[in-house]
Amino acid sequence: MKLGAYRVVHDASTGITTVDREMGEGYLSPTSREAITWTAPYDDFMLNIEAILEEAGAASSATPASELPRLRLSPPEYAGLRRGQGAAPSFGFLGAGFRWFQPDSGEPVRVRVNNREAYTPSMGLDEVKLAFQTWSSVSGSSLRVSFDGTTNSGGLEMDGASTISYGDPKRQIDDLVNCQGIVALASVVANPGETRTIGRFKFSKLLEGDLILNNGIECLTSGNPLLLEEILTHEFGHDLGFGHSSERFDEPDPLLRDATMYFIAHNDGRGSVLRLDDSDAVRFLYSGPNGPLTFDTAALPDAVLGQPYDRQLEFGGGTSPYTVTLVSGGFPPGITLSSSGRISGTSNVATTASVTVRVVDSDLVAKDRSLSLRVSASPSPFIEKVKYTGSKLQITGLFLESGAMVIVNGTETRMAPKYRPSKARLVVSGTAANLKLRRDGTDVVVVAIAGQSSNAFTF
Ligand SMILES: [Zn+2]
Repeated sequence: MKLGAYRVVHDASTGITTVDREMGEGYLSPTSREAITWTAPYDDFMLNIEAILEEAGAASSATPASELPRLRLSPPEYAGLRRGQGAAPSFGFLGAGFRWFQPDSGEPVRVRVNNREAYTPSMGLDEVKLAFQTWSSVSGSSLRVSFDGTTNSGGLEMDGASTISYGDPKRQIDDLVNCQGIVALASVVANPGETRTIGRFKFSKLLEGDLILNNGIECLTSGNPLLLEEILTHEFGHDLGFGHSSERFDEPDPLLRDATMYFIAHNDGRGSVLRLDDSDAVRFLYSGPNGPLTFDTAALPDAVLGQPYDRQLEFGGGTSPYTVTLVSGGFPPGITLSSSGRISGTSNVATTASVTVRVVDSDLVAKDRSLSLRVSASPSPFIEKVKYTGSKLQITGLFLESGAMVIVNGTETRMAPKYRPSKARLVVSGTAANLKLRRDGTDVVVVAIAGQSSNAFTF
Protein backbone atom coordinates (compact mmCIF):
# COMPACT_ATOMS: atom_id res chain seq x y z
CA MET A 1 0.00 0.00 0.00
CA LYS A 2 2.23 2.75 1.28
CA LEU A 3 5.65 1.60 2.21
CA GLY A 4 7.51 2.98 5.19
CA ALA A 5 7.01 4.88 8.42
CA TYR A 6 5.41 8.29 8.13
CA ARG A 7 5.27 11.21 10.50
CA VAL A 8 2.30 13.53 10.57
CA VAL A 9 3.67 17.07 10.66
CA HIS A 10 1.56 20.13 11.40
CA ASP A 11 2.96 23.51 10.45
CA ALA A 12 1.37 25.98 12.86
CA SER A 13 2.42 29.02 10.82
CA THR A 14 0.67 27.90 7.62
CA GLY A 15 -1.96 25.65 9.23
CA ILE A 16 -1.05 22.89 6.73
CA THR A 17 -0.72 19.26 7.83
CA THR A 18 1.50 16.93 5.82
CA VAL A 19 2.69 13.34 6.06
CA ASP A 20 6.41 13.04 5.95
CA ARG A 21 8.66 10.08 5.28
CA GLU A 22 12.29 10.77 6.09
CA MET A 23 14.16 9.17 3.22
CA GLY A 24 16.44 11.99 2.17
CA GLU A 25 16.18 13.56 -1.28
CA GLY A 26 13.27 12.83 -3.61
CA TYR A 27 13.90 11.16 -6.96
CA LEU A 28 12.45 11.05 -10.49
CA SER A 29 9.86 8.39 -11.28
CA PRO A 30 11.43 6.09 -13.90
CA THR A 31 8.12 5.93 -15.84
CA SER A 32 6.55 9.36 -15.68
CA ARG A 33 9.77 11.34 -15.12
CA GLU A 34 7.85 13.29 -12.50
CA ALA A 35 9.56 14.29 -9.32
CA ILE A 36 8.66 12.11 -6.37
CA THR A 37 9.02 13.55 -2.91
CA TRP A 38 8.66 12.10 0.56
CA THR A 39 6.06 14.66 1.64
CA ALA A 40 2.34 14.79 0.82
CA PRO A 41 -0.63 16.84 2.03
CA TYR A 42 -2.31 14.84 4.79
CA ASP A 43 -5.83 14.87 3.22
CA ASP A 44 -4.63 13.77 -0.22
CA PHE A 45 -2.57 11.01 1.33
CA MET A 46 -5.50 9.68 3.37
CA LEU A 47 -7.86 9.84 0.36
CA ASN A 48 -5.34 7.87 -1.64
CA ILE A 49 -5.13 5.17 1.05
CA GLU A 50 -8.92 4.96 1.28
CA ALA A 51 -9.12 4.51 -2.49
CA ILE A 52 -6.56 1.70 -2.37
CA LEU A 53 -8.44 -0.01 0.48
CA GLU A 54 -11.76 0.28 -1.37
CA GLU A 55 -10.32 -1.18 -4.53
CA ALA A 56 -8.47 -3.99 -2.74
CA GLY A 57 -11.53 -4.72 -0.58
CA ALA A 58 -13.76 -5.05 -3.64
CA ALA A 59 -11.23 -7.31 -5.34
CA SER A 60 -10.88 -9.58 -2.31
CA SER A 61 -14.62 -9.91 -1.61
CA ALA A 62 -15.04 -10.99 -5.24
CA THR A 63 -12.55 -13.81 -4.60
CA PRO A 64 -13.79 -17.00 -2.87
CA ALA A 65 -12.11 -17.38 0.53
CA SER A 66 -10.57 -20.67 -0.52
CA GLU A 67 -8.59 -18.89 -3.24
CA LEU A 68 -7.21 -16.17 -1.02
CA PRO A 69 -3.60 -16.53 -0.01
CA ARG A 70 -3.18 -18.10 3.40
CA LEU A 71 -1.34 -16.34 6.16
CA ARG A 72 1.17 -18.25 8.20
CA LEU A 73 1.02 -17.60 11.91
CA SER A 74 4.60 -18.76 12.30
CA PRO A 75 7.35 -19.61 9.85
CA PRO A 76 7.64 -23.30 8.96
CA GLU A 77 11.12 -23.45 10.53
CA TYR A 78 9.48 -22.96 13.95
CA ALA A 79 7.87 -26.39 13.80
CA GLY A 80 11.14 -28.20 14.50
CA LEU A 81 12.43 -25.81 17.13
CA ARG A 82 12.75 -26.96 20.70
CA ARG A 83 12.20 -24.48 23.45
CA GLY A 84 13.72 -24.30 26.88
CA GLN A 85 16.68 -26.55 26.14
CA GLY A 86 19.32 -24.16 27.36
CA ALA A 87 21.39 -21.68 25.41
CA ALA A 88 21.19 -21.86 21.65
CA PRO A 89 23.98 -20.66 19.38
CA SER A 90 23.32 -17.05 18.42
CA PHE A 91 25.27 -16.96 15.18
CA GLY A 92 23.37 -17.65 11.97
CA PHE A 93 23.86 -20.02 9.08
CA LEU A 94 23.03 -19.49 5.44
CA GLY A 95 19.57 -20.56 4.39
CA ALA A 96 18.89 -24.22 4.98
CA GLY A 97 22.44 -24.81 6.24
CA PHE A 98 25.56 -25.44 4.18
CA ARG A 99 29.10 -26.42 5.01
CA TRP A 100 32.25 -27.58 3.30
CA PHE A 101 33.11 -31.22 3.94
CA GLN A 102 36.85 -30.85 3.16
CA PRO A 103 37.79 -29.96 6.77
CA ASP A 104 36.38 -33.32 7.92
CA SER A 105 39.15 -35.10 6.01
CA GLY A 106 41.88 -32.55 6.67
CA GLU A 107 41.63 -31.01 3.20
CA PRO A 108 41.63 -27.27 2.56
CA VAL A 109 38.86 -25.43 0.73
CA ARG A 110 40.60 -24.21 -2.44
CA VAL A 111 39.71 -20.85 -3.93
CA ARG A 112 40.94 -19.11 -7.09
CA VAL A 113 41.09 -15.40 -7.61
CA ASN A 114 40.25 -13.37 -10.70
CA ASN A 115 42.25 -10.24 -9.96
CA ARG A 116 42.48 -8.70 -13.42
CA GLU A 117 40.52 -5.69 -12.25
CA ALA A 118 41.99 -5.52 -8.78
CA TYR A 119 43.40 -2.15 -7.82
CA THR A 120 45.45 -2.63 -4.65
CA PRO A 121 49.28 -2.71 -4.59
CA SER A 122 49.27 -6.53 -4.40
CA MET A 123 46.65 -6.72 -7.18
CA GLY A 124 44.09 -7.83 -4.61
CA LEU A 125 45.98 -10.95 -3.57
CA ASP A 126 47.24 -9.95 -0.13
CA GLU A 127 43.71 -9.00 0.93
CA VAL A 128 42.23 -12.31 -0.22
CA LYS A 129 45.00 -14.37 1.38
CA LEU A 130 44.50 -12.47 4.62
CA ALA A 131 40.78 -13.31 4.64
CA PHE A 132 41.63 -17.00 4.03
CA GLN A 133 44.11 -16.92 6.91
CA THR A 134 41.59 -15.27 9.22
CA TRP A 135 38.96 -17.95 8.62
CA SER A 136 41.62 -20.68 8.88
CA SER A 137 43.04 -19.57 12.24
CA VAL A 138 40.21 -20.24 14.67
CA SER A 139 41.35 -22.41 17.57
CA GLY A 140 39.43 -25.67 17.73
CA SER A 141 38.39 -25.47 14.09
CA SER A 142 39.64 -27.67 11.28
CA LEU A 143 38.63 -25.18 8.58
CA ARG A 144 41.49 -24.29 6.24
CA VAL A 145 41.12 -22.18 3.12
CA SER A 146 43.91 -22.11 0.58
CA PHE A 147 44.73 -19.82 -2.34
CA ASP A 148 44.55 -21.91 -5.51
CA GLY A 149 46.10 -19.42 -7.92
CA THR A 150 44.63 -16.79 -10.18
CA THR A 151 42.12 -17.37 -12.94
CA ASN A 152 40.62 -15.49 -15.84
CA SER A 153 37.18 -16.98 -15.31
CA GLY A 154 35.10 -16.19 -12.26
CA GLY A 155 31.91 -14.33 -11.54
CA LEU A 156 28.91 -16.01 -10.00
CA GLU A 157 29.03 -19.09 -12.19
CA MET A 158 28.42 -22.75 -11.49
CA ASP A 159 31.61 -24.13 -12.98
CA GLY A 160 32.93 -26.34 -10.21
CA ALA A 161 35.60 -23.85 -9.15
CA SER A 162 35.28 -21.52 -6.20
CA THR A 163 36.41 -18.05 -7.16
CA ILE A 164 36.72 -14.55 -5.80
CA SER A 165 36.53 -11.92 -8.55
CA TYR A 166 37.45 -8.28 -8.41
CA GLY A 167 35.61 -5.79 -10.59
CA ASP A 168 32.46 -7.83 -11.34
CA PRO A 169 34.01 -9.34 -14.52
CA LYS A 170 30.73 -10.74 -15.88
CA ARG A 171 28.77 -7.57 -15.03
CA GLN A 172 26.41 -9.38 -12.68
CA ILE A 173 25.89 -6.47 -10.24
CA ASP A 174 24.50 -3.05 -11.08
CA ASP A 175 27.18 -0.39 -11.05
CA LEU A 176 27.46 1.89 -8.08
CA VAL A 177 25.73 5.25 -8.41
CA ASN A 178 27.43 8.09 -6.58
CA CYS A 179 29.44 5.44 -4.73
CA GLN A 180 26.26 3.76 -3.44
CA GLY A 181 24.85 0.35 -4.23
CA ILE A 182 25.88 -3.29 -3.91
CA VAL A 183 29.51 -3.69 -2.93
CA ALA A 184 29.79 -7.47 -3.28
CA LEU A 185 27.74 -10.62 -3.82
CA ALA A 186 28.43 -14.16 -2.66
CA SER A 187 26.76 -17.34 -3.89
CA VAL A 188 27.05 -21.02 -3.04
CA VAL A 189 26.27 -24.31 -4.75
CA ALA A 190 25.47 -27.28 -2.52
CA ASN A 191 24.32 -30.88 -2.80
CA PRO A 192 21.29 -31.36 -0.53
CA GLY A 193 21.62 -35.12 -1.05
CA GLU A 194 24.80 -35.18 1.05
CA THR A 195 24.34 -33.91 4.57
CA ARG A 196 25.98 -33.95 7.96
CA THR A 197 24.11 -33.30 11.17
CA ILE A 198 25.78 -31.16 13.83
CA GLY A 199 23.87 -30.60 17.03
CA ARG A 200 20.26 -30.14 15.97
CA PHE A 201 21.11 -28.81 12.52
CA LYS A 202 21.51 -30.56 9.19
CA PHE A 203 24.04 -29.15 6.73
CA SER A 204 24.29 -29.85 3.00
CA LYS A 205 27.64 -30.33 1.36
CA LEU A 206 28.98 -27.19 -0.31
CA LEU A 207 30.37 -27.81 -3.78
CA GLU A 208 31.26 -24.29 -4.83
CA GLY A 209 31.33 -20.78 -3.42
CA ASP A 210 31.80 -17.68 -5.54
CA LEU A 211 32.25 -14.10 -4.55
CA ILE A 212 32.28 -11.00 -6.73
CA LEU A 213 33.35 -7.53 -5.70
CA ASN A 214 31.67 -4.79 -7.67
CA ASN A 215 33.59 -2.59 -10.06
CA GLY A 216 34.05 0.93 -8.83
CA ILE A 217 34.26 0.12 -5.11
CA GLU A 218 37.59 1.95 -5.05
CA CYS A 219 35.51 5.03 -4.21
CA LEU A 220 34.88 3.34 -0.83
CA THR A 221 38.04 1.42 -0.20
CA SER A 222 41.00 2.91 -2.05
CA GLY A 223 41.80 5.30 0.79
CA ASN A 224 40.63 2.72 3.32
CA PRO A 225 42.31 -0.66 2.76
CA LEU A 226 41.06 -1.93 6.15
CA LEU A 227 37.49 -1.57 4.93
CA LEU A 228 38.27 -3.73 1.89
CA GLU A 229 39.73 -6.34 4.26
CA GLU A 230 36.61 -6.27 6.41
CA ILE A 231 34.32 -6.55 3.37
CA LEU A 232 36.29 -9.47 1.91
CA THR A 233 36.33 -11.31 5.23
CA HIS A 234 32.59 -10.80 5.75
CA GLU A 235 31.57 -11.71 2.21
CA PHE A 236 33.80 -14.75 2.07
CA GLY A 237 32.18 -15.84 5.36
CA HIS A 238 28.97 -16.30 3.36
CA ASP A 239 30.82 -18.65 0.99
CA LEU A 240 31.86 -20.69 4.05
CA GLY A 241 28.23 -21.19 5.06
CA PHE A 242 27.72 -18.35 7.53
CA GLY A 243 24.76 -16.00 7.53
CA HIS A 244 24.51 -12.70 9.33
CA SER A 245 24.84 -12.59 13.10
CA SER A 246 21.93 -10.15 13.08
CA GLU A 247 20.07 -8.02 10.55
CA ARG A 248 18.72 -5.51 13.07
CA PHE A 249 19.87 -1.90 12.86
CA ASP A 250 19.05 -1.62 16.59
CA GLU A 251 20.56 -4.99 17.57
CA PRO A 252 20.77 -4.81 21.38
CA ASP A 253 23.25 -7.68 21.82
CA PRO A 254 26.78 -6.23 21.56
CA LEU A 255 28.15 -9.68 20.76
CA LEU A 256 26.04 -9.89 17.61
CA ARG A 257 26.53 -6.25 16.64
CA ASP A 258 30.28 -6.61 16.99
CA ALA A 259 30.50 -9.75 14.86
CA THR A 260 32.20 -9.39 11.49
CA MET A 261 29.16 -11.24 10.11
CA TYR A 262 26.83 -8.41 11.28
CA PHE A 263 24.85 -7.24 8.28
CA ILE A 264 26.45 -3.79 8.10
CA ALA A 265 30.17 -3.20 7.64
CA HIS A 266 31.60 -1.69 10.83
CA ASN A 267 34.29 0.32 9.02
CA ASP A 268 35.99 0.73 12.38
CA GLY A 269 39.48 -0.15 11.22
CA ARG A 270 39.11 -3.79 12.25
CA GLY A 271 40.34 -5.09 8.91
CA SER A 272 40.31 -8.88 8.54
CA VAL A 273 39.32 -10.21 11.96
CA LEU A 274 36.75 -12.51 13.49
CA ARG A 275 35.04 -11.63 16.72
CA LEU A 276 33.71 -13.97 19.41
CA ASP A 277 30.40 -14.76 17.73
CA ASP A 278 32.13 -15.41 14.38
CA SER A 279 34.70 -17.74 15.95
CA ASP A 280 31.98 -19.60 17.86
CA ALA A 281 30.21 -20.16 14.55
CA VAL A 282 33.40 -21.50 12.93
CA ARG A 283 34.04 -23.85 15.84
CA PHE A 284 30.47 -25.09 15.63
CA LEU A 285 30.43 -25.72 11.89
CA TYR A 286 34.02 -26.93 11.44
CA SER A 287 34.92 -28.40 14.77
CA GLY A 288 37.10 -31.22 13.55
CA PRO A 289 36.65 -34.99 13.66
CA ASN A 290 35.39 -35.18 17.25
CA GLY A 291 32.71 -32.52 16.95
CA PRO A 292 32.47 -29.42 19.12
CA LEU A 293 33.66 -29.52 22.72
CA THR A 294 30.78 -30.29 25.09
CA PHE A 295 30.45 -30.18 28.87
CA ASP A 296 28.33 -33.27 29.41
CA THR A 297 27.83 -33.25 33.18
CA ALA A 298 24.58 -31.39 33.82
CA ALA A 299 24.22 -31.93 37.59
CA LEU A 300 26.07 -33.40 40.56
CA PRO A 301 24.63 -35.88 43.05
CA ASP A 302 24.59 -34.84 46.69
CA ALA A 303 27.54 -35.73 48.89
CA VAL A 304 26.68 -37.68 52.04
CA LEU A 305 27.74 -35.86 55.20
CA GLY A 306 30.96 -37.36 56.56
CA GLN A 307 31.30 -39.89 53.75
CA PRO A 308 33.79 -39.91 50.87
CA TYR A 309 32.61 -38.32 47.62
CA ASP A 310 34.08 -39.10 44.20
CA ARG A 311 32.69 -37.88 40.93
CA GLN A 312 34.30 -37.43 37.51
CA LEU A 313 33.04 -34.55 35.34
CA GLU A 314 32.37 -35.62 31.78
CA PHE A 315 33.25 -33.89 28.52
CA GLY A 316 33.07 -34.77 24.84
CA GLY A 317 34.29 -33.58 21.45
CA GLY A 318 37.05 -31.04 20.95
CA THR A 319 40.63 -32.20 21.31
CA SER A 320 41.84 -33.94 24.45
CA PRO A 321 43.49 -33.57 26.89
CA TYR A 322 41.06 -31.41 28.79
CA THR A 323 42.05 -29.10 31.62
CA VAL A 324 39.50 -28.23 34.27
CA THR A 325 39.52 -25.17 36.49
CA LEU A 326 37.21 -23.54 39.00
CA VAL A 327 36.04 -20.18 37.59
CA SER A 328 33.90 -18.98 40.48
CA GLY A 329 32.44 -20.14 43.78
CA GLY A 330 33.98 -22.77 46.03
CA PHE A 331 33.41 -26.43 46.84
CA PRO A 332 32.25 -27.48 50.33
CA PRO A 333 35.08 -27.79 52.89
CA GLY A 334 36.94 -31.07 52.40
CA ILE A 335 35.98 -31.46 48.74
CA THR A 336 38.32 -30.47 45.90
CA LEU A 337 38.40 -30.35 42.11
CA SER A 338 41.36 -31.79 40.20
CA SER A 339 42.62 -30.43 36.88
CA SER A 340 41.27 -33.56 35.18
CA GLY A 341 37.75 -32.81 36.44
CA ARG A 342 37.53 -35.18 39.40
CA ILE A 343 35.56 -33.90 42.39
CA SER A 344 36.49 -35.79 45.53
CA GLY A 345 36.93 -35.62 49.29
CA THR A 346 34.88 -35.86 52.46
CA SER A 347 32.91 -32.97 53.88
CA ASN A 348 31.62 -32.73 57.43
CA VAL A 349 29.70 -29.51 56.77
CA ALA A 350 26.08 -29.65 55.66
CA THR A 351 25.90 -26.98 52.97
CA THR A 352 25.07 -26.28 49.36
CA ALA A 353 27.90 -24.86 47.26
CA SER A 354 27.51 -23.18 43.87
CA VAL A 355 30.44 -23.30 41.48
CA THR A 356 31.23 -22.47 37.87
CA VAL A 357 33.65 -24.93 36.34
CA ARG A 358 35.52 -24.47 33.06
CA VAL A 359 36.93 -27.12 30.76
CA VAL A 360 39.55 -26.11 28.21
CA ASP A 361 40.68 -28.49 25.49
CA SER A 362 44.09 -28.57 23.84
CA ASP A 363 42.90 -26.12 21.14
CA LEU A 364 42.10 -23.68 23.98
CA VAL A 365 38.37 -23.90 23.34
CA ALA A 366 36.51 -23.42 26.64
CA LYS A 367 33.10 -24.41 27.99
CA ASP A 368 31.71 -23.30 31.34
CA ARG A 369 29.08 -25.01 33.46
CA SER A 370 27.40 -23.83 36.64
CA LEU A 371 26.83 -26.65 39.11
CA SER A 372 25.74 -26.96 42.69
CA LEU A 373 26.95 -29.51 45.21
CA ARG A 374 24.92 -30.21 48.33
CA VAL A 375 26.31 -31.98 51.38
CA SER A 376 23.57 -33.57 53.46
CA ALA A 377 22.91 -36.42 55.86
CA SER A 378 19.81 -37.26 53.80
CA PRO A 379 20.83 -36.93 50.14
CA SER A 380 18.25 -36.33 47.40
CA PRO A 381 17.64 -39.00 44.77
CA PHE A 382 19.84 -38.57 41.68
CA ILE A 383 19.17 -39.79 38.13
CA GLU A 384 22.17 -40.88 36.07
CA LYS A 385 20.48 -42.66 33.20
CA VAL A 386 16.97 -43.17 31.83
CA LYS A 387 15.97 -45.69 29.20
CA TYR A 388 12.61 -46.67 27.74
CA THR A 389 12.52 -50.23 26.43
CA GLY A 390 9.14 -49.98 24.71
CA SER A 391 7.27 -51.30 27.74
CA LYS A 392 9.36 -50.23 30.72
CA LEU A 393 10.88 -46.98 31.88
CA GLN A 394 14.22 -47.75 33.58
CA ILE A 395 15.70 -45.09 35.83
CA THR A 396 19.20 -45.72 37.16
CA GLY A 397 20.89 -43.52 39.70
CA LEU A 398 21.89 -42.88 43.29
CA PHE A 399 19.85 -42.74 46.49
CA LEU A 400 16.86 -44.37 44.79
CA GLU A 401 14.56 -46.56 46.85
CA SER A 402 11.13 -48.13 46.91
CA GLY A 403 8.29 -45.77 47.63
CA ALA A 404 9.67 -43.30 45.07
CA MET A 405 7.42 -41.19 42.91
CA VAL A 406 8.32 -40.86 39.22
CA ILE A 407 7.27 -37.71 37.36
CA VAL A 408 7.43 -37.71 33.55
CA ASN A 409 7.02 -34.35 31.82
CA GLY A 410 5.35 -32.92 34.89
CA THR A 411 2.89 -35.79 35.46
CA GLU A 412 3.27 -38.51 38.07
CA THR A 413 3.17 -41.98 36.53
CA ARG A 414 -0.02 -43.91 37.28
CA MET A 415 1.85 -47.16 37.91
CA ALA A 416 4.04 -47.09 41.02
CA PRO A 417 7.71 -47.79 40.24
CA LYS A 418 9.36 -51.01 41.37
CA TYR A 419 12.82 -50.73 42.91
CA ARG A 420 15.59 -53.17 41.90
CA PRO A 421 18.34 -52.70 44.52
CA SER A 422 20.84 -54.92 42.69
CA LYS A 423 20.80 -52.51 39.74
CA ALA A 424 20.06 -49.32 41.70
CA ARG A 425 17.14 -48.93 39.35
CA LEU A 426 13.50 -47.86 39.43
CA VAL A 427 11.28 -49.50 36.81
CA VAL A 428 7.85 -48.27 35.73
CA SER A 429 5.85 -50.38 33.30
CA GLY A 430 3.59 -48.80 30.70
CA THR A 431 3.14 -47.77 27.12
CA ALA A 432 4.66 -44.50 25.97
CA ALA A 433 1.15 -42.98 25.96
CA ASN A 434 0.48 -44.23 29.53
CA LEU A 435 3.73 -42.78 30.71
CA LYS A 436 3.20 -39.46 28.83
CA LEU A 437 6.45 -40.00 26.92
CA ARG A 438 7.03 -38.00 23.75
CA ARG A 439 10.13 -40.00 22.85
CA ASP A 440 11.69 -37.18 20.84
CA GLY A 441 14.64 -36.46 23.08
CA THR A 442 12.80 -33.84 25.14
CA ASP A 443 11.28 -36.07 27.83
CA VAL A 444 12.08 -34.87 31.34
CA VAL A 445 12.07 -37.31 34.26
CA VAL A 446 12.19 -36.42 37.95
CA VAL A 447 12.17 -38.79 40.94
CA ALA A 448 10.83 -37.67 44.30
CA ILE A 449 11.42 -39.57 47.54
CA ALA A 450 10.14 -38.41 50.91
CA GLY A 451 9.65 -34.86 49.69
CA GLN A 452 13.09 -34.56 48.07
CA SER A 453 13.31 -34.18 44.29
CA SER A 454 16.07 -35.43 42.04
CA ASN A 455 17.75 -33.59 39.19
CA ALA A 456 15.51 -33.14 36.12
CA PHE A 457 16.89 -35.61 33.61
CA THR A 458 16.24 -35.03 29.90
CA PHE A 459 16.39 -37.99 27.53
ZN1 LIG B 1 26.55 -10.22 4.33
